Amino acid sequence: MSGGRYDLVILGAGPAGYVAAVRAVELGFKVAVVEGRRLGGECTNWGCIPSKAIINAAKLAKSAKLGRRAGVSLRLEGVDPRKVLDFARRASTRSREGVRLLLSEVDIYEGFGRLVKGGVSVGGEVLEAGRVLVATGTDPAPVPGVSFDGEVIISNREFFEAPQIPSSILIIGAGAIGAEIGQALARLGTKVTIVEIMERPLPYTDPEAGEAVARALKKDGVKLYTSSKVAEVRREGSEAVARVVTPKGTVEVRVEKVLIAAGRRPNTSGIGLEEAGVELAGKGWVITNDYLQTSNPAIYAAGDVAGPPYLAHKAYREAIIAVEHAAGKEPWLPRGPVPSVIFTDPEVGYVGLTEADAEKAGLQVATVKYPYTALPKDYTTYSPTPTGFLKLVYEEGTGRILGAVAVGNSAAEIIHEVTLAITNRLTIKELAKTIHSHPTYSEAVGEAAYTALGMPIHGKEAQ
Ligand SMILES: Cc1cc2nc3c(=O)[nH]c(=O)nc-3n(C[C@H](O)[C@H](O)[C@H](O)COP(=O)(O)OP(=O)(O)OC[C@H]3O[C@@H](n4cnc5c(N)ncnc54)[C@H](O)[C@@H]3O)c2cc1C
Repeated sequence: MSGGRYDLVILGAGPAGYVAAVRAVELGFKVAVVEGRRLGGECTNWGCIPSKAIINAAKLAKSAKLGRRAGVSLRLEGVDPRKVLDFARRASTRSREGVRLLLSEVDIYEGFGRLVKGGVSVGGEVLEAGRVLVATGTDPAPVPGVSFDGEVIISNREFFEAPQIPSSILIIGAGAIGAEIGQALARLGTKVTIVEIMERPLPYTDPEAGEAVARALKKDGVKLYTSSKVAEVRREGSEAVARVVTPKGTVEVRVEKVLIAAGRRPNTSGIGLEEAGVELAGKGWVITNDYLQTSNPAIYAAGDVAGPPYLAHKAYREAIIAVEHAAGKEPWLPRGPVPSVIFTDPEVGYVGLTEADAEKAGLQVATVKYPYTALPKDYTTYSPTPTGFLKLVYEEGTGRILGAVAVGNSAAEIIHEVTLAITNRLTIKELAKTIHSHPTYSEAVGEAAYTALGMPIHGKEAQ
């Protein structure tokens, strides 16, 4: 049965799919979106949005403890484990409704779609498509020796669908997801164990950032095992017992839930990609060119399914590039570096090259580190981050900014000024010339640049 003819059919309504639909409508396309689960995808329903909601709830619990530093004593009367998740779900619902509104001029088909000759099939209908965008994202991946059972050994999806937050949890992986959820739960009263195979949390960024997060997790009561591995998890009634191999020996951890947060796998199997001549790499990631076009020129792929970094804002940008190219426009390229933010406390933001990356690339690298202890804004808050800092990586000689890492309050915000600098090939001098308001965390950017130029102002004592 023919379900209609479209200029663009999009598989998946996550950040890549729905943004592609919005831009395609603006460009005059007739658009259909096919979604097998919920509008908004992983980010809205089981990822970015509900995780940030529980982080905010946890911040409130922490504030109750810290307020007395500012002379305001608050009493934490309790944490309702059900209402915390209800709050997170309400945030997801609002976000999902927002997506639905954005798609008001798009035909939405519910069901898992599959590429077929000339279009996409969904629920017995065939949608004829001029172009197809594959934006099917990822599924949570198990780890060797531990598989999901959906009840006790769970992924982020079951975690956010549960009636309440657990009283104890073991999290496999101290990447962004594990560190954020682990810290939030610990602050909300859950007994949290995190097991990370690498030597520190957030192993893919600047070591100092990972070490700062490790210290903070421990301070919040998280039992953190690094350079360690969960070898086996067995069910005992409604609980799980995990065997954790650590450098100091094997320990057993008994918990209500085990959350696997150690990787994702692409949703590319069984949806007709190979038959359509779309080439895949590695575990099934779609290979694309700069315009997100696959080896079949009528088929584009964007977002997580097109490879790392697995971030919503990277998905947004790729979606726009893909659709503009499909419409015969010349999209903005290159994409610029993709900033990453981890919403732990301290927050971590990073962008561009680390010092080690830049050296590996054969560049003459210099760095400057500006500590939050020289940042008046940080003195004014009841939750200061005295171990915080902004580190800029730049090219010796030209002063061209290559990368940055920020750790501490507002790191998630200030990293974007550096992103703008890298995207526009700005130098240390240009950052120094930029006037920053006082007192703000953004002052760290200007102060770091002044320091790099040998003219430290407020950071003089810290040098
Ligand atoms: C706990 C957690 C926290 C996160 N926090 C952040 C954060 O703070 N910031 C950030 O930038 N990123 C975050 N992410 C990552 C972010 O969620 C993803 O990068 C983003 O969702 C990718 O968007 P996407 O559109 O590529 O894929 P997805 O969001 O995965 O959407 C793909 C959609 O396609 C649908 N689909 C799959 N197959 C089919 C099919 N055959 N037919 C129809 N529909 C199909 C799926 O149901 C899904 O809705 C987080 C992820 C998790 C798990």
